[in-house]
Parts: sequence; C-alpha cells; structure tokens
Amino acid sequence: MDFSWSEEYTNYRNRIIEFAKSELADDTLIQRDHEGTFARDLWDKCGEFGILGLAAPARYGGTFEEVDIMRAAYALEGLGYGCPDTGLNLALNAHLWTVMMTITLFGDEVQKEKYLPKMASGEWIGAHALTEIGSGSDVYNMKTTAEKVDGGYILNGEKRLVTLAPIADVAVAFASTNPKLGKWGISAFIVDKTMQGFEPQTVQQKMGLRTAPIGRIKFTDCFVPDENRLGKEGAGFSVCNHSLEYDRCCILAGKLGAMQRQLEQTVEYAKSRQQFGQAIGQFQSVSNRIADMKLRLETSRLLLYKMTWLKKNNKPAMLEAAMLKLHLGEAYVASSLDAIRVHGGNGYLTEHEVERGLRDAVGGVIYAGTSDIQRNIIAKFLGL
Ligand SMILES: Cc1cc2nc3c(=O)[nH]c(=O)nc-3n(C[C@H](O)[C@H](O)[C@H](O)COP(=O)(O)OP(=O)(O)OC[C@H]3O[C@@H](n4cnc5c(N)ncnc54)[C@H](O)[C@@H]3O)c2cc1C
Repeated sequence: MDFSWSEEYTNYRNRIIEFAKSELADDTLIQRDHEGTFARDLWDKCGEFGILGLAAPARYGGTFEEVDIMRAAYALEGLGYGCPDTGLNLALNAHLWTVMMTITLFGDEVQKEKYLPKMASGEWIGAHALTEIGSGSDVYNMKTTAEKVDGGYILNGEKRLVTLAPIADVAVAFASTNPKLGKWGISAFIVDKTMQGFEPQTVQQKMGLRTAPIGRIKFTDCFVPDENRLGKEGAGFSVCNHSLEYDRCCILAGKLGAMQRQLEQTVEYAKSRQQFGQAIGQFQSVSNRIADMKLRLETSRLLLYKMTWLKKNNKPAMLEAAMLKLHLGEAYVASSLDAIRVHGGNGYLTEHEVERGLRDAVGGVIYAGTSDIQRNIIAKFLGL
C-alpha cells in the first residue's frame, strides 16, 4: 500500500494553494458573507486558472486530457485549504461535479461540445435541479413532469434549495417522464436559459455558505428538445446516483482542506493565547479538543483518498461515498464547534472568522443526502 502522491499531483495542488491564497483570499469575505454576495470576479479567476475545467476532458475545454478524479480531489483539497470562502468552494464544486461531470459522463458528443467549453471557462454557470418541496430525502418522489410531445418534452414543476439557481445559465434537471414507474420513470435533461419557461428565482437567505446563492427554479411549460435529454428516458435515477458520488468525493475534498486550515489556526491560537500565566494549549482540556480535531481530519482524509482511488479505478463506491459523506460532514461540524471553544469569546466574534466555519459546516450534514440518509445506506449494505 502506497500513501504517497506523485510529484505531478503535488505540484499542481501546490499551485492551486498559491493561487487560492493570493487571488481568492481577499479581505471582502466578512462583508460578502454578511450580504450574501457571490463573487463573480473570483469565479472568473477560477475559470481562467483552469479549476472549472477539472470535470471535462481537454477536447471539451477541460484542463487536462482526461478527467482524473484523484488529481481533482487532491487539488480541490488544496483549494479548500487556500481559499477561506467556503461558499465559493461549494459553488465551484456543485457546478463541476453535479452538472459538468454529469454531462461528461452521460452526454452525447453534441451536448458535450455545446455545454462543456462554456462551463469550463466559467462563462456559463450550472445548477443541479433535483430537490422539490415534497421530495427532499425521498428525492425520486418528485412531482416535476416531462410530458413527451413532438420533438421534445414539456417540463412543469418547481425545484428548490438549488445551489447557484438564481444565477444559473444551465441546469441538469430531473423530471418524471412516467410517474407510474416511480424512480424508474425519472429522466434527466439539460435545460438552459435560451429555453422559454426556464425560470430561475431569487436568492433564498440562509444560515451559512452565504456567498453561494441558493434558490428555486421553476419550469413553466418549458419545451426541452429531444437532443437535450441526458441519457436514456427513465435513466435519471442512475444518472443522478453517479453524479452524486463524484459530488460527495470532491465537495468534501474542499472541506477537508478547510478543516486543515481550521486546525492550523486553532493550534496557533492555543500556542499564543495566554491565561493563568501560560499558553491555553498547555491545559489538557484545550489540547484534548485539538487532538480530537486532528483525529477527525486524518480519518476523514483516509476515507476521502480511498474513495477517490475507487472512483479512479472505476470500482463501485456507494458504501464508501456514504461513509465519507457521513463522517466528514459530521467531523467538520464537531471540529468547527471545537475551534470556537478553543478561541473562547473571540471564536464567537465574526471579525475573527472562526464562527463562520460552524455556520458553513452545518450545510454539509444536509445537502447531497442528510447524515441520516447516509446511515440508512450504510445499514442497507450491512443487510439491515
Ligand atoms: C447548502 C445546501 C445546498 C443544496 N444544494 C442543492 C442542489 O444544488 N440541488 C438540489 O437539488 N438540492 C440541493 N439541496 C437540497 C438538499 O439536497 C436537501 O435539503 C436534502 O436532501 C434534504 O431534503 P429536505 O430538506 O427536504 O429534508 P427532509 O427530507 O424533509 O428531511 C428532514 C429530516 O428528516 C430526516 N429523514 C427524512 N427521511 C428519512 C429517512 N428515510 N430515514 C431517516 N431520516 C430521514 C432527514 O435526515 C432530516 O433530518 C441543498 C441543501 C442545502 C442545505
């Protein structure tokens, strides 16, 4: 067993860390988080650097000849480490893995040529429109319909809680083409802003990840031509499951980087803050907390790297994806709370940029399947 990374991967990751620290870590973040502002300029910089091309092969505008999930996850871990804007990280990853990668995996030549280059450059922003008011965890119980007509489908329905929805140019959207078949009647479509009846709605305010706009998308008698169906009719369930595995892998890689940054800041603080004539890190109650943070980080890292290896080698990874999502999501919340405790009152003040970590972390135990749903998946694999 070899735990080392190649020089090529490490160099690329180091370049990303440098880029993130110099170009994405500006001093407007507290204000943008307060106002819930998406930084389009930083998004464009990521496009120019090639980060948005990690989910497409070079022939469709991607950064490398082929998509390499191990390199991508390792690089995105670096991005999460260098870029303190966790909302931007969520936005980049949602666009990359739930939209672009889905088109890379399931799109035909025409679809890939039409959509991937625009998304790899950052010109077009993508959203993954799945959740509805009545179908969250029970996701395939959706009410959005796609009625077959001459030359295409008419979509009607409303999606909610969709990352990047308010500013989306294109969406991978799921709708039922045959409600009688339940999840086997769900199909996937590429819907874009040139189609009448594709109606992104305004931003919904939220607890954390505020720099990533989230909202609803309405489909009102939206005509989607046959050539924009993604995969076969009725294949939406499989299309969605595949893309969510990549999503879990890479979105969590960014969080892992954020956890590393959080740990380093917390260690530094515990060394420098003095109480009772000594550094607070000398008190065992404080150092025990930090030891727990380190353990959560390293166990999350092992699960993530194993998952990327499985995906790169085209092996099934549903169980591993669920364990990773559950463990890393919960670990980030627990460590964010520990970071606040170690920082005391300063941890509670916005200006110290510690409390934002907790608000941002909580979203991770909800999106892409809640922690309860991940436990259900694991239990099912154990025959329960
Ligand atoms: C920051 C963020 C970003 C998101 N981005 C997107 C996006 O880009 N696209 C998109 O389509 N959606 C997105 N979502 C929506 C997200 O996927 C759903 O919120 C999530 O799947 C849960 O659905 P729900 O909110 O309807 O909760 P519900 O399904 O109503 O769940 C409520 C509670 O019941 C529990 N529960 C439900 N069913 C079970 C069960 N069978 N066993 C045990 N417990 C259960 C849940 O765990 C939870 O605690 C996002 C959400 C957030 C918070």
